[in-house]
Amino acid sequence: MEKTIHGIAASSGIAIAKAYRLETPHLAAEKRTIADVEAEVARLEAAVAKAKEELEAIKQHALEKLGEDKAAIFAAHLLVLDDPELLNPIKEKIQTEQVNAEYALEETASFFISMFEGMDNEYMKERAADIRDVTKRVLAHLLGVTISNPSLISEEVVIIAEDLTPSDTAQLDRQYVKGFATDIGGRTSHSAIMARSLEIPAVVGTKAVTAEVKNGDIVVIDGLDGQVVINPSPERLAHYEEKRARYEAQKAEWAKLVDEPTVTADGVHVELAANIGTPDDVKGALANGAEGIGLYRTEFLYMGRSELPTEEEQVAAYQTVLEQMNGKPVVVRTLDIGGDKELPYLNLPKEMNPFLGFRAIRLCLEMQDMFRTQLRALLRASVHGNLKIMFPMIATLEEFRQAKAILLEEKEALLRQGVPVADGIEVGMMVEIPAAAVMADQFAKEVDFFSIGTNDLIQYTMAADRMNERVSYLYQPYNPAILRLISHVIDAAHREGKWVGMCGEMAGDPIAIPILLALGLDEFSMSATSILPARAQLKQLTKEEAARIKETVLSLGTAEEVVALIKQTFHIA
Ligand code: PEP
Ligand code: MG
Repeated sequence: MEKTIHGIAASSGIAIAKAYRLETPHLAAEKRTIADVEAEVARLEAAVAKAKEELEAIKQHALEKLGEDKAAIFAAHLLVLDDPELLNPIKEKIQTEQVNAEYALEETASFFISMFEGMDNEYMKERAADIRDVTKRVLAHLLGVTISNPSLISEEVVIIAEDLTPSDTAQLDRQYVKGFATDIGGRTSHSAIMARSLEIPAVVGTKAVTAEVKNGDIVVIDGLDGQVVINPSPERLAHYEEKRARYEAQKAEWAKLVDEPTVTADGVHVELAANIGTPDDVKGALANGAEGIGLYRTEFLYMGRSELPTEEEQVAAYQTVLEQMNGKPVVVRTLDIGGDKELPYLNLPKEMNPFLGFRAIRLCLEMQDMFRTQLRALLRASVHGNLKIMFPMIATLEEFRQAKAILLEEKEALLRQGVPVADGIEVGMMVEIPAAAVMADQFAKEVDFFSIGTNDLIQYTMAADRMNERVSYLYQPYNPAILRLISHVIDAAHREGKWVGMCGEMAGDPIAIPILLALGLDEFSMSATSILPARAQLKQLTKEEAARIKETVLSLGTAEEVVALIKQTFHIA
């Protein structure tokens, strides 16, 4: 019987194949009393050593198939297995309580997992997932249970699992694994991110897929609309085969645009840039035709480690990005930590409202040593390409002036020491706080450019936490309040002869694109895989037709009315 399950579209495309259930083995660690505790500690150490050997092999596999930043996940897992703060308490538990290694391991790991999961912080939650993944592997060795090894799959399948750990995902071979669906997970979970970089269609967070699918069922994974169809009827199957063919044909069409500039049908050029988090992302940005980097989120350089990155490490990272972009513009955002991105090693006190708290430029202006190190690294790297620097979360003119003054001080100091620094580095700011948007005319006199951060601008304008799904209905990019703010920012900048980009998710949204073109946005920065579809869309649009709807859009009352008008005017399904 055909059945459809809904989930979250995590990676685009359509896959149709036989189901392969990736079973999570039941690893029960019963408590036993141990007489020879030293032998038990040795047994634990042997299991840890075997797990490390396996992880090394998986890391190598990931490095070859997925690139350095994905392999880094397994490097992090290996670090967990080297961490005395985890291993010593396990050994002590075996020794003092005379219990078996399995029990000591599971109890200790559970303690850390619940501690990290209890933190209101995505990053620490992921660390909990890492510990769970690693513990399972060691436990399996202790129990002599084989854990499933998806790299052994040798026929075309779609994987059905409760969840996929990063180590499972890294072992997937694109030749055989055509897609996957899971019960849990979200668009930003590690496995979803890896699926996108492998370009394997995926639907996550279905809640029910493992309860419904048996091994060998024919399954359709629709990663475009977030649906899983089990044992489709011949008609449904034909429908999806056609949808897949259409999507593949469309991708082939998009690929032809990779080296083309982004020009509308009436000859207006806009820049399509990529948002990146690490130097490894540059490859994907270029392969998808990015004309520049519109946002380099440098905070990832500071995360997943136990101390601040050194100036030298930072120079190396920035220089790599600038060199690979080979003269194309690279907008680097200075550290935006705080909110949902914490750095545990800064030991900052917990806040009631982290998104309204001590984050980004506020923190940098106070922790100036850290800020100055980053600015020096940027200035030193600047001679290797076309660098632009922007500051996040600017609320007041004083903040911008102070940040810029510190940058200039560091520049002068470097020049005095004879260190070369590029001339004319543009210095801009993110517009993501409503106060800055309202005061854009004042800021425009002092900045070289704006980049509108709609992810935050929307949450602050609508007073709706971007992480809270209960108020997600207020997360309305097309609300005329947001559109009027954006329009005001663009007009204010243009009056001063400055350019305006947008690096929030909205910039790559097909409904928003005609509006942003109408409002005069100069640069659209988005995730790499959105660039070619956006270029294809912009080539069909004319600036003239878009400009004609500008006043109407800004005079509408609701987001719904805006969407209806755009869909009708620009024939968007
Ligand atoms: C934004 O706020 O729109 C933005 C691009 O920054 P981040 O998502 O990193 O807060
Ligand atoms: Mg932001």
